[in-house]
Amino acid sequence: MRWLCSLLLGLSCAHSAALQERTVRIGVLGMFHPEILTIANDQDRDLVVLLEKRQLFLRPRSSCSKIELRASGNQLLLRCGLIQIRTLELRAADRNREAIEFVLGIPKQIERRYEGILTVRARNGEIIPVVEMDLETAVASIVQAESMPDTPLEALKAQAVVSRSYLVAGRGRHADFDFCDLTHCQFLREPPAAESLAGQAAVATRRLVLAFNDKPIVAMFTRSCAGTTRVPTDSDSPSGSYPYYSVRCDHCYKDPIRWTRTLSREDAAMLSSQGETGRIAIGRKLGWDAVPSYTFTTREQGDEVVLEGVGQGHGIGLCQRGARNMAAFGSDFRAILSHYFPNTRVESLPLQ
Ligand SMILES: [Zn+2]
Ligand SMILES: [Zn+2]
Repeated sequence: MRWLCSLLLGLSCAHSAALQERTVRIGVLGMFHPEILTIANDQDRDLVVLLEKRQLFLRPRSSCSKIELRASGNQLLLRCGLIQIRTLELRAADRNREAIEFVLGIPKQIERRYEGILTVRARNGEIIPVVEMDLETAVASIVQAESMPDTPLEALKAQAVVSRSYLVAGRGRHADFDFCDLTHCQFLREPPAAESLAGQAAVATRRLVLAFNDKPIVAMFTRSCAGTTRVPTDSDSPSGSYPYYSVRCDHCYKDPIRWTRTLSREDAAMLSSQGETGRIAIGRKLGWDAVPSYTFTTREQGDEVVLEGVGQGHGIGLCQRGARNMAAFGSDFRAILSHYFPNTRVESLPLQ
């Protein structure tokens, strides 16, 4: 009997891993550190809100069509029409407990539409909304948010494969969810329309990932490089088992994006002594554009230090600018990926 149990256990483990791969949990709107959050349903079907002891139905044009949540320590104070409830957690889905469209809002700051299953908790007075969304919805949303508007379809398809690989292989940078919606992980906003180029790029590469030694890699990308891409150091984002390579990028090599910035001596000292960690620390202090890349020279000018550099971003993996150029000159997404990620293969995740 023992072999049967281990066989069954093995099957259930494989099944749950496959299920995990099909969805990702994205922590959204975290950059606003919300104390108040609204959840609205403007679609013609019920949004079912599950609380600890009861459930509510959010319906357009009813007395409860929009929920307001306020954080109180680790609790949520919910208000909808005349209803007021205190709860530790809220979940929202459709009647079959599956993904649904809804609009999250932070009063006077932002409203954003999502599709998925919503979980909301509070921690130390801050609301933490997490949307569990279909992997492909997340890929399309990221391709839309992370790409320049004039990007050709084949470069968007390369971006889709890179972003999907990151989502499949790069979990573990956050405790409460798989990924945030900022460039710390990958920038994500609303899902694009199906007919948009980003939507088409996701569909055309459905379930394709970059693999090294038969495993999906934590594929990284950068806005533009310094003429060759970088190999990650210990302080860079996780790269998993893929070693990365310094790849020549013809377009940026011939015509790099150049930048000049001026820093105080104190900030510049932080930069030179701490390498990429220093660049990230300065980004947190002065904004992410304060030092656009890691490739620069410095010269002193009075009390300040002038930085002259090339490239935008960490410079590792896919160069988006180089990919746009390759696509414009006829390369398909597979050629783009094999150029920036030597020794990898494009493989399909198992079908479910
Ligand atoms: Zn993150
Ligand atoms: Zn480049």
